[in-house]
Amino acid sequence: MNNKLYGNLIFELSEKGRKGYTLPRNRFGNYALPDELRRQDDAQMPECDEMTVVRHYTNLSANNFGVDNGFYPLGSCTMKYNPKINEEMAALPQFQNLHPLQPADTVRGAEAVCTLLCRALCQLTGLHAFTLKPFAGAHGELTGLMVIRKYHESRNDGQRQLVIVPDSAHGTNPASAAVCGFDIIEVKSTAEGLVSLDDLRRIVEAEGPRIAAMMMTNPNTLGLFERQIPEIEQLIHQTGALMYYDGANLNPMLGAARPGDMGFDVMHINLHKTFSTPHGGGGPGAGPVGVREGLEQFFPQVSPYHGNFAVAIRAYAYILSLGREHIKEVGPLATLNANYIKECLKDVYELPIDGLCKHEFVFDGLKDKSTGVTTMDVAKRLLDYGYHAPTIYFPLLFHESLMIEPTENESKTTIDGFIDVMRQIADEAKTNPEQVKSAPHHTPIGRVDDVLAAKHPVTTWRQLVAEHC
Ligand SMILES: *Cc1c(COP(=O)(O)O)cnc(C)c1O
Repeated sequence: MNNKLYGNLIFELSEKGRKGYTLPRNRFGNYALPDELRRQDDAQMPECDEMTVVRHYTNLSANNFGVDNGFYPLGSCTMKYNPKINEEMAALPQFQNLHPLQPADTVRGAEAVCTLLCRALCQLTGLHAFTLKPFAGAHGELTGLMVIRKYHESRNDGQRQLVIVPDSAHGTNPASAAVCGFDIIEVKSTAEGLVSLDDLRRIVEAEGPRIAAMMMTNPNTLGLFERQIPEIEQLIHQTGALMYYDGANLNPMLGAARPGDMGFDVMHINLHKTFSTPHGGGGPGAGPVGVREGLEQFFPQVSPYHGNFAVAIRAYAYILSLGREHIKEVGPLATLNANYIKECLKDVYELPIDGLCKHEFVFDGLKDKSTGVTTMDVAKRLLDYGYHAPTIYFPLLFHESLMIEPTENESKTTIDGFIDVMRQIADEAKTNPEQVKSAPHHTPIGRVDDVLAAKHPVTTWRQLVAEHC
């Protein structure tokens, strides 16, 4: 079989009888599984020697781009350095070998990590209590909305069916509200990129007693601080509804302002974004939910045991290593880095919303639209220069969105390198647009057909082989 054509799967490297393991001597005697639990045929596993396995996966990993390979300015997702000390802490055998059903008096240390992390989150957010159970940001949203539903039901006010979500919100916000059984009302943004108070007043007047909550992301998905939160909070609370804070990316707020002080009742934090856990490719994550006093009785049971405990350990290690004084620098540094890039590039990239941003901002493609070079082309060309692309085509408010988040822990040298390359690409778009449009030229795989991959996913190696033979 041609390995190049078939992507070099471990199954294709298999040769009957090859072994890459030696089993330890059996110390437990033979235990026969009941017949009905035994398979009839041997499992179809790849048979490879150890070096083949090591080289296969090492080569595959080298085809990947991660925060440890290079700058990764992915807006809204906060791909930042994950300190290796976090990994060491999470890998301590005293944590790693715990069993969730161990007697409580043998896991006091792990309990203390959970308690102390929750306490730190309360201090950082100004809320009263946290649950660590949710496995991700979206799971946290669902958990928080379940709290809000229970709260209204406890007051015999269960008819509140509507959740207000800004049009700039992350897609998980309306999705979580829908999964929780709410109907969604979208509130518009102003030309300035903030929640439109006029539109919100209209919604509140029309729907008042049917509103259960308003979800807000702050800084919002455009990287802007929602300056009208006091007015919004008053409008919403007057109707009897609660305020939900999407704190997936809390970096810019650390040391600057606290959701609890702004009047929010319920929030989630993405530990994997804000407090550093490697989370490429969909996990693992943790989305702890915090509530103001009196709401903790409504925490639902959304996962067994204590959620993704290893993520909690990493977050706590990160918080402890920064400490009370240095954690205050996270927000200002994230904000400084984002504004620096924005100001250095806004003469060649279209900046639809000017002014001070927080940890991230959005360009609407190249300023010179006559070259035909799109945001997709710029993103692909960046790979040739060793930079991961920013988030592209999100938020949906602009056609050519290019959403950049440098994070707080990049050096000025790295950021200047990125700025130079972004300017160079803008230059190439004028002088040699074809080179940008056909990028990437130096990666193992060029442009993939996203639509085909999404509509017709090939999920097993058998399917892959069958379709190519
Ligand atoms: C990432 C993100 C989420 C969802 O978090 P997941 O852990 O991916 O489920 C929600 N809201 C915002 C603003 C985000 O950036």
